[in-house]
Amino acid sequence: MAEWNDLDRELDAWRTEGRDATLWWRDDDARQMTPALERLLGLSEEAGVPIAIAVVPLGAEPGLGECLSRRPLAAVLQHGYAHVNHAPAGSRKAELGPGRDAETVLAELAEGRRLLAPFDGALPVLVPPWNRMDPSLLARLPAIGLEAVSAYKPRPAPEPAPGVRCANVHADLFHMKGRFIGERAVLELIVDHLAARRKGMVDRCEATGLLTHHLDLDDACWAFVRKFLRRTRDHAAVRWIGGREVFWP
Ligand SMILES: [Zn+2]
Repeated sequence: MAEWNDLDRELDAWRTEGRDATLWWRDDDARQMTPALERLLGLSEEAGVPIAIAVVPLGAEPGLGECLSRRPLAAVLQHGYAHVNHAPAGSRKAELGPGRDAETVLAELAEGRRLLAPFDGALPVLVPPWNRMDPSLLARLPAIGLEAVSAYKPRPAPEPAPGVRCANVHADLFHMKGRFIGERAVLELIVDHLAARRKGMVDRCEATGLLTHHLDLDDACWAFVRKFLRRTRDHAAVRWIGGREVFWP
């Protein structure tokens, strides 16, 4: 468990070493503009911090694209296709997991890409639902126009397949059961990733990513996000990045 002071100390160490502690923010599961999504975008703007919204293509309202196009700090990523679980009973949830016919999955993803084409600012980035996918699909993504992926935990490589970049997130506000893990647990995930980067134990160049799910945030989550954005934005070592720079620095 970490405290705000631990975060400050870790960021101070980055400053002492003269390096930018790059951070980025991904939010999942958007299908339509809701009060929660409005609130989230408001926090991003208030803090001047970019945000990447992972939109579920199937059923995404065209109005969402219009709303997001008026938000210069918001980028759009592709969150699978329908966000439907196809994993066998007893296995961890996955839409793009092994065991499905690859041609079917790729056809769905290509259709998802077509559905998001009208969204201004949509990047060719796939966010697999539940942060997992059959790794053998990676090499085939460029053929359907997807050029990057984003899942959870330190990335295996900056480019896990030819023409496919990767930038993951490292601090999910929720347990698998969908409850806030608490401020100190999130801070620990962030401080641990920053420290591991600084010491070269993981890829130093992968920005540390915060993951939220706007539909599920309770008051404590909202308060944490707001405080985290302000606190980091005001630290001299921090550089919040967004848009293409997260994947193609
Ligand atoms: Zn999701």
